Amino acid sequence: MLKDNFENILKEIPPNVELVVAAKSRTVKEIEEVISAGAKIIGENYVKEAGEKYALIGKKVEWHLIGHLQKNKVKDAVRIFDMIESLDSADLAAAINKECRKVQKIMPVLIEINSAAEWQKAGILPEDFNAFMEEILKLKAIKPMGLMTMGALLKNPQDMRPFFEKTRQIFEKAKKIFMLNDWKYLSMGMSDSYKVAIEEGANMVRIGTAIFGPR
Ligand SMILES: *Cc1c(COP(=O)(O)O)cnc(C)c1O
Repeated sequence: MLKDNFENILKEIPPNVELVVAAKSRTVKEIEEVISAGAKIIGENYVKEAGEKYALIGKKVEWHLIGHLQKNKVKDAVRIFDMIESLDSADLAAAINKECRKVQKIMPVLIEINSAAEWQKAGILPEDFNAFMEEILKLKAIKPMGLMTMGALLKNPQDMRPFFEKTRQIFEKAKKIFMLNDWKYLSMGMSDSYKVAIEEGANMVRIGTAIFGPR
């Protein structure tokens, strides 16, 4: 059962780790069920789908965007989401900043790191990270709070460890270089890999399948 799955995962993760329920393709009824089991953060990949669910479920949970954001969806995204975990370009950062200024909102963001460039497309390459940060720190309506990574989606989660490790190193270095008060989230790990990700320092995990079953 959904509620039991959710509770079992909560029991397994340390108390400092935030659980983002990855809810793409799940119904409002399923999401309401995990919310009554105690879920606090819902992660969505698509703005339109999130908007439809948000209209029915509302602000009793936090909404995180975890999928790639297209620029023509930024206006709606800014209205719905409490955090954008998938900031992956300077153009997108500027577009989010612009929409946030219009509605006088400051958007918490995580920078998506392309930690497995060989397999993965989206995200900032590790070698470009510092320059990217300097660029987006000029934008006052977005608030960088940490990093997100997917890593390579490999069968054996142990093989994903190097990507998580690399992302944690960037996270720690950024803490020293940029000294931001709110720099605190490291979002890594999904159903198959969250244990390894937590061992490598994740304090936010995004889990769908292990809660809802296969899509
Ligand atoms: C779907 C998704 C997840 C969750 O994946 P599961 O394997 O279902 O746990 C996490 N992060 C992102 C970005 C996703 O799109």
